[in-house]
This record gives sequence, C-alpha cells and structure tokens, in this order.
Amino acid sequence: MKITQEYARKVIEEVAPLVEKVSGLKTDLNNYVVIIEKSLNNMAWYSHPKTFTYTEEFLYNDDAFHEITAHEIFHNAIFSKFPNLSDYKNSFYSHSLDCLIEGDATLIQLNLRNKYYKNSNWISSSDALLWVNILNKEFGGNREYINALYTAPIEELVKIFRGDE
Ligand SMILES: [Zn+2]
Repeated sequence: MKITQEYARKVIEEVAPLVEKVSGLKTDLNNYVVIIEKSLNNMAWYSHPKTFTYTEEFLYNDDAFHEITAHEIFHNAIFSKFPNLSDYKNSFYSHSLDCLIEGDATLIQLNLRNKYYKNSNWISSSDALLWVNILNKEFGGNREYINALYTAPIEELVKIFRGDE
C-alpha cells in the first residue's frame, strides 16, 4: 500500500491514545514531523526533531501499518519520559539498552496487535521477539517493573539480556 502524509498522520493520531492506554505512558506529539521516503526500507522514530519516517511503498497491510506505528509512538513515549536515554546509547553497554528499547516497543506493539489489529501481517525480527520473551518471562509484562529498567544501573540490563550477548 502507498503511504501518504495525511494517512500517516491520521494513523498516528488514532494509535497514540491506544499506546498511552496500554503502556500507561504519555506521548509527546506536539509539532512532530512525518517524512515519507521512497528508498527507505525500515520505519523509524527520531527524537530531535520529533520525526516519524516511513517508506512510501509499505509492503504489509493496513493493520500492520497501525501496529508498526504503535511501535514508533512508544519510542516517542519512552524518550519523552526518559530524555537522557540517548546518552546511554553511546556507552559500551548500549546493546543491552537496545534490547530493552526495542524489546519493550515490540511488546507494546504486539499487545496492540492482539487487541486492535488482529489482521496485521507484520513480521517482527526474531531478535525483537526474543527480547519480548525475556521481558515477559522476567516481568510478566508488568509496566512498573519494566519502566524501572530504564533508570536501573546498566549492569542490571546486561544481566537480564545476557543470554543475547
Ligand atoms: Zn524500534
């Protein structure tokens, strides 16, 4: 399907309240930017400036577009709650932090998929699914515990995601 600015913005506005409901976190979507690129092959969220990037030719269905948009919106919510996360990203242990950030966004994404976007044909990476399993096994999807990980000592994360090093 072809993605347009108008459509992407409509979906972002529609999905954001659902992400907030499921995650208990606030999004910060004042003055965000949407970039639709022809040659891009993955979707992304950037904090500075607040930007969603999408591929013009989206290879999955409408529910999948909602699902992956939920993933990117959750990145927005996490980076507005924990603004200095990007400092850690440059550290030696950034792999463990990536596991948390990507695993958690995929966890929320799948949660929304089960509730609202059952027909989605999106396929998450096996790495992301592995991190989701670790979070589910260790914390049973408990948001309070998972949110605490973002400010936990990095050694804690290394221990949790060690199986993946
Ligand atoms: Zn992501």
